[in-house]
Amino acid sequence: MEKSTLTELIKKLDSFLYIDHQFRKGLGVRLPVKNPATGEVIGHIAAATPEEVNAAVSAAHVAFQTWSKVLPKVRASVLHRLGDLITADASNMAILMTAEQGKPINEAKGEILKLAEACHFYAEEATRVHGEIIPNDQSGFQSLVVREPIGVVAAITPWNYPAELVGWKLCASLASGCTIVIKPAELTPFTALAIAQKCQEAGIPAGVVNVVTGKGSQVGQALVEHPQVDKVAFTGSSAVGLQIQQSCPQVKRLSLELGGNCPLIVTAHADIDAAVQGATRRSFRNCGQICIAINRIYVHRSVYQEFISKFSQSADALTVANGLDNPNADLGAMASAEALTKTQQHLEDAMSKGARLVAGGSVPEGDQYKRGYFFRPTIVMDCDHSMKVMIEETFGPLVGIAAYDDLDEAIGYANDTPYGLAAYCYSKDLAEIHSVSSKLEYGNVAINNVDAGIMNAPYGGRKQSGIGYEHGREGLLEYFNFKHVRLYHGVRE
Ligand code: NAP
Ligand code: MG
Repeated sequence: MEKSTLTELIKKLDSFLYIDHQFRKGLGVRLPVKNPATGEVIGHIAAATPEEVNAAVSAAHVAFQTWSKVLPKVRASVLHRLGDLITADASNMAILMTAEQGKPINEAKGEILKLAEACHFYAEEATRVHGEIIPNDQSGFQSLVVREPIGVVAAITPWNYPAELVGWKLCASLASGCTIVIKPAELTPFTALAIAQKCQEAGIPAGVVNVVTGKGSQVGQALVEHPQVDKVAFTGSSAVGLQIQQSCPQVKRLSLELGGNCPLIVTAHADIDAAVQGATRRSFRNCGQICIAINRIYVHRSVYQEFISKFSQSADALTVANGLDNPNADLGAMASAEALTKTQQHLEDAMSKGARLVAGGSVPEGDQYKRGYFFRPTIVMDCDHSMKVMIEETFGPLVGIAAYDDLDEAIGYANDTPYGLAAYCYSKDLAEIHSVSSKLEYGNVAINNVDAGIMNAPYGGRKQSGIGYEHGREGLLEYFNFKHVRLYHGVRE
C-alpha cells in the first residue's frame, strides 16, 4: 500500500466533524490517532466542544421533522445508494480502518463490504415495517398499532468493528426515519468520518447524519445527557454501558450491546476437526477483540488431549503481521497498548494459578513487531474459574481450556459468569445439542459453527451483556415507538 494514499485519505478527514451536511474543522483540542502496528501518529481528531455537540444534536432534531415523514421507499433508495457508494470505495475505506485499528486489510475490506450489505438489508426492511389491528372487547371499536420513529439517536461505538458497529445503528436510523449523531471510538474515528463522506455523497439530507469525535467521558457523556437525544444506541464495555444507564438524566430509550465472555463446549460426540477449525477462527480473529470471541473452552475429558494437540498446531500456524503490509495475515496488531497489557496480565494470572501454556504466549520475534502491539495467538490448558481468563473478558488473542466429565457440569461452567452474549457448542448428538441450546443463558447460541450473528436474526445479550437487539426485524423495531390508536367508528356488526 502506498503511504501517500493513506496521507491523502487522512488529509480530508483530519480534525473534521460532520454536522448538518458540512465537514467543518473542529474547534476543540486535537487528539492524536495512532497506527497500532507502528506507533506512528496518522492524524488527529478534534474533541467536539459542548457548542459543537449542541449544533450536531440540534441539526438532527430539526432534520427529524422532515426525515421522519419521508416515504419509506425513498429512504430505502437512499440506503441502496449509500451501500453502492461504500462498495465502490471499499479498498480506500479498508486502508483507513487498518491504519487506525490494526486488522489485516483484507479483513477490513470484508467488514466494509458487510456494512454495504447492511445498507441493502435495511433498505429492504424499511419498506416492510407495518402495524397491527388488534381485536377489541366491545363492538364499534378498532385498535390500530402504528409504528413511529423515535427521534434523535446518539450512536456511541467501540473500536473493534469501526464500520459495522457504526453502520448497524446508522442503517436502522435511516430505515426507520430517525436521525443520528455518531460518536465513534477515540481510537478509530476516521472510518466513521469516511462513512459520513459517503452519506454526504449519497445525498442524505442535511442533519440526518452527524459525526462528532472526542473522548467518550466528555463527548459521549454529553450526548447521553442531552435533552434532545431521544435514544442512546451504545456498543461497548459493560462498565461504560452501566455508567450510561445510571447517568442518563432523562427517561430515554437505551439499547446496550455490551461485553461478553463466550464459552465453547466440545462434547465427547463432537467432530473434533470442525471444532478446532471453529475455535481457531473465533478465538483469534481480529486478535480476539470481538465481543463474541471464544474466551474459554470446556472439552470432554475423552477428547481433551486430541483437541488440545490439534488446536495448538492450528494456532501456531497462524500468521501475525502488520495488516497494511500483509493484507492476508491472520492477525494484525492489537488496537492499543491497553488491550495488549490486559492480555498479558490474564496470561500471567492463569500461569501463576497452575495453567499450562500450549501455544503462543509471547510477542512474535522480529524487528517489525517491536513498535506495534503484536501478540501470538495463545492457548492455556488445565484452567479453572479462579483464573481471570475464564471469568473476565480478555479481549485479546488468549483462550483458556478446561476438561469436564459431565455435560451439565460444562453447562454450569458456561453459565458461571455475569455475561450472556454468545455461546458455542460442537456435538453431533441430538440430545446433547438440545440440552445445551436450551440450558445456556445466552442471547446467541451457535451449534457446530462459530458465526453466532446473521443480519436477519435478532442479535443481543443477556445479563451484563446488554439490553435490546440489533439486526433482524427486532433490531429495527428498537428504533420505533408504538402508538395505539383506538378508534370508535360505531359499526356494530
Ligand atoms: P468502551 O470503553 O466501553 O467504549 C465504547 C464507546 O463508549 C467509545 O466510543 C467510548 O469513547 C465511549 N465512552 C466511554 N466512556 C463513556 C461515557 N462515560 N459516556 C458515553 N460514552 C462513553 O468499549 P471499548 O473499549 O471501545 O470496546 C470494547 C468493548 O466493547 C468490549 O467490552 C466488547 O465486548 C464490547 N463490544 C460489544 C459488542 C456487542 O455487540 N455486544 C460488540 C463489540 C464490542 P472513547 O473511545 O473515547 O473511550
Ligand atoms: Mg475503552
